[in-house]
Amino acid sequence: MSPDLQQQVLESLRGVSFPGMSRDIVSFGFVDTIDVDQGRVRVRLKIQTQNRQAVEEVRDRAEAAIRGVPGVTEAEVVAEMVTPPTPEQSAARAIARDPRLIPDVKRVIAVASGKGGVGKSTVAANLAVALSQLGHSTGLLDADIYGPSVPMMMGLAGQRPQVADGGNRLRPFSKFDVMIMSLGFILDEDTPVIWRGPMVTKAIEQLLGDVEWGSLDYLVVDLPPGTGDAQLTLTQKVPLSGAVIVTTPQDVALIDARKGLAMFEKVNVPVLGIVENMSSFVCPRCGEVTDIFKKGGGERTAKELGCEFLGSIPLDPSIVVCGDEGRPITAAEPEGAHGEAFRSLGRAVVRAVADERPTLTIQ
Ligand code: ADP
Repeated sequence: MSPDLQQQVLESLRGVSFPGMSRDIVSFGFVDTIDVDQGRVRVRLKIQTQNRQAVEEVRDRAEAAIRGVPGVTEAEVVAEMVTPPTPEQSAARAIARDPRLIPDVKRVIAVASGKGGVGKSTVAANLAVALSQLGHSTGLLDADIYGPSVPMMMGLAGQRPQVADGGNRLRPFSKFDVMIMSLGFILDEDTPVIWRGPMVTKAIEQLLGDVEWGSLDYLVVDLPPGTGDAQLTLTQKVPLSGAVIVTTPQDVALIDARKGLAMFEKVNVPVLGIVENMSSFVCPRCGEVTDIFKKGGGERTAKELGCEFLGSIPLDPSIVVCGDEGRPITAAEPEGAHGEAFRSLGRAVVRAVADERPTLTIQ
């Protein structure tokens, strides 16, 4: 088996869109297996639709795409038609990894980044506030092992959650109309990071299962930065409906964003899209917009990777000040431009996650 050829075949399938749609069959999650034996390639597609003609068309397009890959001598594509799940089945699948953990949470959205310092926690906190302002009941779970910053950003530093149910459950904090729980509330700051990995898996299970989340439309999870084992384990533990990847416009950050995308593909979590943070600098005095890094990198990367571009958040010192003061800018200045940018991100996330749910039904 040649991993290179397998990868190239997968890349070629990203160029195959579903008839009548701009989205490709890889991002829809229709590619089930790719087997490579020398130059012989066999691909199995599982396509959720009731349109037989579309299935045949996709199969033909996929075969043609694979034949165009250098080194491929034979291409066979088997396309299976799968009945789309009902919304109820999809919702059940979303929490199937451990249905007991959070039965009353409808959607769990991970906020992730390939590396630290790109503003992942800032985006997670503001996204949660924005979703709440948009009328959805929302929670925020800070699962960042390396530096849980949600307590500080939400003005809850140094606090301990209350215990309920005779000591069996933790009560989340409620602030800015968001239910909040963080590893920072229960993790001993002195525990070396290297020991945190194994402890964290257990802690996360508790933060999901033993917290009185109540019924939530969205639970936003701030994942640790990076794409290593700890992150991979978490993506498997937390029943995620989809992931939002935060990047900055620098090339290095964009490369890391790609790694993030690959990680979620590995564990079959749909990537809802990419957010570009610190995309341009707005002068607080004159309002002039300066692009410090190359413009449009996040959008380009999203396009190249075949995923949605969910929006960009400007670089602004007031975002730092609000974060440090424990009031996310979306809560501190709801009518301001940044609040609007985060609500626009919230709307894009709601749309993207809804797309993921009933998947595709074309008559
Ligand atoms: P991460 O979670 O990726 O490590 P943080 O959200 O902790 O990143 O952000 C790192 C620093 O960058 C914080 O001081 C935060 O206030 C600041 N920051 C994040 N986003 C912005 C932005 N759009 N403009 C200005 N500063 C920002």
